[in-house]
Amino acid sequence: MYKYETHLHTSESSACASSTGAEMARAHKERGYDGIFVTDHFFNSSTTVPQDLPWEQRIDLYCKGYENAREEGAKIGLAVFFGVEWTINGADLLIYNKDKQWLKDNEYLLMNARETELFDEVRKTGGFIVQAHPFREADYIPHISLYPHHVDAVEAVNLRNSKPLFGGSAVWNDRARAYAESYGLPQTGGSDVHSVGEIAGGGVLTPEPIRSPEDYLRMILNGSVKLLNNERRT
Ligand SMILES: [Zn+2]
Ligand SMILES: [Zn+2]
Repeated sequence: MYKYETHLHTSESSACASSTGAEMARAHKERGYDGIFVTDHFFNSSTTVPQDLPWEQRIDLYCKGYENAREEGAKIGLAVFFGVEWTINGADLLIYNKDKQWLKDNEYLLMNARETELFDEVRKTGGFIVQAHPFREADYIPHISLYPHHVDAVEAVNLRNSKPLFGGSAVWNDRARAYAESYGLPQTGGSDVHSVGEIAGGGVLTPEPIRSPEDYLRMILNGSVKLLNNERRT
């Protein structure tokens, strides 16, 4: 089996993260991962990117953590893929299989359109969406918002949800699993890791290597992805 982190932040672009893309790449390689998806917070959440710059420049800054991770990954033999964690009404959506140019070309969709218009367009144009930790409760989440008909899968194991360290509760993952089952949605796992010190073995195992995000989607849909679940329930 191959091991991947699917939900990861870098300090270049996520204001709440404290390790750089290169540090994250090295630390995940050391912990036996075959690859990582860098999913920094978009501008509707905890971002380091100033609001008052031209759009293209903002996107260039947004992609820095990913690019630094990818550069390091190429040196050390770790696959690094791009993703986006996009936030609306307290819901966090992981968008995969899009790239920097697509973000540059879609300011209106990303910033002004109705969220379901964005989700539909992402999915119509080769991207896919996983709703992250749908039942997390936190100060930054005003209410639980679910998008069962606009996502491809549900993050049913989020390590950050379950750790006493983060004030999380394992029942949030239990609810996410029940929700996914109720709607017949596939389930994924991710750590939502924000620093090298937090790496605790979350993510997914796959029977084949992931060479592109499409490979990951195919394995999500055919049920061959295993969720790494080492939640601590204390
Ligand atoms: Zn964060
Ligand atoms: Zn996250």
